[in-house]
Amino acid sequence: MISGVRGTLIDFTGDPFVLGDENSIRVEQDGLLVIEEGKILNRGNYNQLIKHYPHLETIDYSGYYVMPGFIDTHVHYSQIGIIGSYGKHLLEWLETYVYNEEAKFKDIEYSRRAAIFFLEELIQNGTTTALVFASVHPQSVEVFFEEAYKRNMRMIAGKVMMSRNAPKELLDTPSMSYEESKSLIEKWHGKGRLLYAVTPRFGITCSREQLDYAGRLLKEFPGVYLHTHLAETKDEIRLTNQLFPDCADYLEVYEKSELVTNRSVFAHGIHLSDSELKRLSNAHSSIAFCPTSNLFLGSGLFNLGKVLDSKHPVKVGIGTDVGAGTGLSMFGTLNEAYKVAALQDQKLSSAKGFYLLTLGGAKSISLDNQLGNFEKGKEADFVVLNPCATPLLNFRNNSNNRNGIFDGIDGIIDRLFSLMCMGDDRVIESVFISGNLSYSQKRSI
Ligand SMILES: [Zn+2]
Repeated sequence: MISGVRGTLIDFTGDPFVLGDENSIRVEQDGLLVIEEGKILNRGNYNQLIKHYPHLETIDYSGYYVMPGFIDTHVHYSQIGIIGSYGKHLLEWLETYVYNEEAKFKDIEYSRRAAIFFLEELIQNGTTTALVFASVHPQSVEVFFEEAYKRNMRMIAGKVMMSRNAPKELLDTPSMSYEESKSLIEKWHGKGRLLYAVTPRFGITCSREQLDYAGRLLKEFPGVYLHTHLAETKDEIRLTNQLFPDCADYLEVYEKSELVTNRSVFAHGIHLSDSELKRLSNAHSSIAFCPTSNLFLGSGLFNLGKVLDSKHPVKVGIGTDVGAGTGLSMFGTLNEAYKVAALQDQKLSSAKGFYLLTLGGAKSISLDNQLGNFEKGKEADFVVLNPCATPLLNFRNNSNNRNGIFDGIDGIIDRLFSLMCMGDDRVIESVFISGNLSYSQKRSI
């Protein structure tokens, strides 16, 4: 079964941080995306391509932007219920809100309700892939994967490993966390489009023995990911240093257990030394930049320019980090990322921002062979954006020459920037997962 989508196709063929915006963004103003069995079969100009597919069943989104699905590289589904909780820094925030909420995930029905709600919210925000923290309870991962599997989504998740410095009901033991993670990997990693991430919460809640068990899982199952937190706040770093006096810095806590690999994603990385950044770069590890969370908790300003420094660039994706993040919208997240950069005299253009949500995000989680742009053979997860979705966006973007839309790449880059500043879930007109229309504001599915 072959199908098509007509609209303005926007994707990236390279890295705008290296090549510049114009040399990396690819725009087909009146484009056609051809899909077969969940994969991209072809892309190009509508009038040229349609000749080869005369009977193609095509949905017409002329005037809308069609982009690869967004990738959220750090988010906690188990914290969706406490988003927007008032007034604490990281460590107090965990104790006051997070641990109480995560304790509820012992109840499988509560976990399922949260998983369904979370996945539906992600889709409505155009996010088709995410790297997700569950809770310490294996059943919280089970139900999350079951629901993601039903929706045929490319999702990465894992059971939290934590054996100290948290309420008793949330603790596992090092060997228990190993056994439980191992069974989940055997059951779920590679099933459908699902992938597993070994997920020690962070050094404060994990003993050396537990981190060693995490390292053992990475060795025994080479395709799985490592997903944890790193250098989010200064208090966290101080406490980590006290707990691991044999380590010269925070990253060494993870290095000693061989957790710093090319499949490792570290959330935050705000307060890292040059040496730590260099070692992350050499290991081909990634950082998830979570601007709404960093601002909300007052954790600090992520230095994107320094982290991407061409002498020792570290791969970067964008994370919402809900529940400390204040929304699942990747537009809202880019909006804050732009301001975090601006406060440090750096500029995050729309091309760079949307690159990080798509191809850059895919690279940061080693899925750029499967996801991230419209290359032939890639998985057909994509979003359709309405650049005039709200009255304000319509007033700004619907200029007289807009009916028919075609006013150049500069116009598109400019409108993408307005979406990055002011967009929300109303901009997401439709979402396709594995080539199927999974969500639509106006059309019946
Ligand atoms: Zn987090």
